Amino acid sequence: MQQRIAQLRAAFSKAFGNARNTTITKAPGRVNIIGEHTDYTDGYVLPIAIDRSVLVAMRPNGSSTVNIHSVNYDQSASFDLSAEALCENAQWLRYPFGTAKVLQARGHVLEGIDAAVEGNVPLGGGLSSSAAIEVAFALAYCAASKLDVDRLTLAQLCRTAESQYAGVNCGIMDQYVALFAEKDHALFLDCRNLTHEQVPCRTDAVKLVVSDTGVRHSLAGSEYNTRRAQCERGAAFFARRIDGVRNLRDLASEDVNTFGQDLESPVLERCRHVITENARTMAAAQALRQKNVYQLGVLMSASHESLKNDYEVTCKELDLMVDIAHELPGVFGSRMTGGGFGGCTISLVAGEKVDDFGKALAKKYEAATGISPHIYVVAAENGAEIL
Ligand code: ADP
Ligand code: MG
Repeated sequence: MQQRIAQLRAAFSKAFGNARNTTITKAPGRVNIIGEHTDYTDGYVLPIAIDRSVLVAMRPNGSSTVNIHSVNYDQSASFDLSAEALCENAQWLRYPFGTAKVLQARGHVLEGIDAAVEGNVPLGGGLSSSAAIEVAFALAYCAASKLDVDRLTLAQLCRTAESQYAGVNCGIMDQYVALFAEKDHALFLDCRNLTHEQVPCRTDAVKLVVSDTGVRHSLAGSEYNTRRAQCERGAAFFARRIDGVRNLRDLASEDVNTFGQDLESPVLERCRHVITENARTMAAAQALRQKNVYQLGVLMSASHESLKNDYEVTCKELDLMVDIAHELPGVFGSRMTGGGFGGCTISLVAGEKVDDFGKALAKKYEAATGISPHIYVVAAENGAEIL
């Protein structure tokens, strides 16, 4: 971390003359253990923050302009705080811009800043670098303008920024975990009440391994919105038939069998995924509380099956990565994680087998696809902070 901070300060100096009086904010990426595609229907999720993060070095500049140098893109870009829309075409600028706009829309007056940003969360890899950059800038703006905004509000504002300014109508999970995560704990989040429980999740004997398929299918955005619409349709169907049902999270697996006959395909299958995934996620939180890794692994693997067959958001590379993992010694469970259509899998692996697991998985996956995958062992880290 010290080295990254030194490099960030050097980049800031190069762009803005010197790095005196800079404040550094940090926000982590995340990986979701289980509870996939459940956050936008009021459901349950169980993510951790990871030790990959976005760092922002910031200094107020006494103007109404935000000037940012991106280390990852080796590019500088600016916007005026009074601008309604971006004129620059740097895609990455939408995130810091959107975060500023949603804070302003809530009535906060922002100061201009100079900033350098760097991240080691893979961009577009399903570990939510987007929430990390939003949250890191949210903390930077609050520090520069001396705003005292509570973390729940920041999570909601950053989610709004992502949906209104980056065009992804996402749920609250990524921004929430980036702000509320605690080291050595998984965050069991109720996405309706926006309350959470920190469930101890030490990874000494059993490791969490993220494997990046290396593919990103462009379907992800459009299919995501289709799934959301199908869930809304399904929720409305059940709400008309069962008293007290407002969203898919209010349903039990039996309700799909009892009331779902008249629901058309694939809306029925989409609902079945969400409803069974909520049940699995609650059971997984309980398995984690009881340190029952066998049960947790079984639930993770069942989640993948459901995402593959009922929600249809996997792809051949994700299915292959999971299938290979299941054949290897020491694996308790494996599933795709994140939105799907490429990105990463997460596997639960016995600590003493983890090195062999990584090597064998990489070798077999590369033999089948020609892609050499990045594989990371991750542990539960703290949420965003000012360093
Ligand atoms: P994911 O959240 O899975 O990483 P997204 O497509 O949602 O993928 O977000 C990735 C985008 O976020 C990048 O293309 C870039 O525009 C922006 N971004 C994330 N981290 C950084 C960073 N360190 N510097 C600049 N832009 C970043
Ligand atoms: Mg994202």
